[in-house]
Amino acid sequence: MKPSAERAQVLVVGGGPVGMLLAAELAERGVHTVVLEAETKPRDAPRAGTLHARTVQTLLRRGYLSVPDATDPGDPRARRSTGFHFAGMPLLRIPAPTVEGPPVLGVPQSALEETFAARAQEAGAVVLRDHTVCEVRSSERSGRVTALTGDGTRTFEADYVAGCDGARSVVRT
Ligand SMILES: Cc1cc2nc3c(=O)[nH]c(=O)nc-3n(C[C@H](O)[C@H](O)[C@H](O)COP(=O)(O)OP(=O)(O)OC[C@H]3O[C@@H](n4cnc5c(N)ncnc54)[C@H](O)[C@@H]3O)c2cc1C
Repeated sequence: MKPSAERAQVLVVGGGPVGMLLAAELAERGVHTVVLEAETKPRDAPRAGTLHARTVQTLLRRGYLSVPDATDPGDPRARRSTGFHFAGMPLLRIPAPTVEGPPVLGVPQSALEETFAARAQEAGAVVLRDHTVCEVRSSERSGRVTALTGDGTRTFEADYVAGCDGARSVVRT
């Protein structure tokens, strides 16, 4: 079956920071990814506001955050990267972080979610808002997901369903 909004390789249920980041990472690797998010727009209610050291380091390395010196194009350290192979996969590259980020960084969760969502969509992920998943069924080969939308119900199928729908997860239930 051809990829479409209804037929994805990976269906991500929940477009919070975990779901949007997963979608961005998958889509950048060419995986056809569809995000189903219940809310009609990103939440702006204050939630997480602080990133700690390992998260700052990881997000910097993957290019989701920038700190002043890390993006200076005149700084030769900004271009440092090393090619390597691993587990039979050739032509891998890993860039060295140009600077370590601060141990703690104030970033509103809503801003981070928008950064992840924008990068996911730039890479080709489909983000469908106003889609509240109400049922998940799995077979040996695929997952089938039903979502309630403003216009009725829609059914989706995917090779994998990722439950990124927060603490009261329908997928886990
Ligand atoms: C007041 C507050 C302060 C916090 N402060 C910090 C902090 O300073 N630092 C920190 O690291 N963490 C903090 N946290 C925790 C942080 O907000 C959570 O760890 C984070 O939101 C979890 O991300 P998530 O993507 O797993 O889930 P969520 O952010 O809960 O996202 C889940 C998404 O799934 C969607 N969804 C849910 N059910 C469905 C469904 N059935 N169908 C479709 N979509 C669905 C929701 O609309 C939501 O967008 C704080 C939390 C709160 C509430």
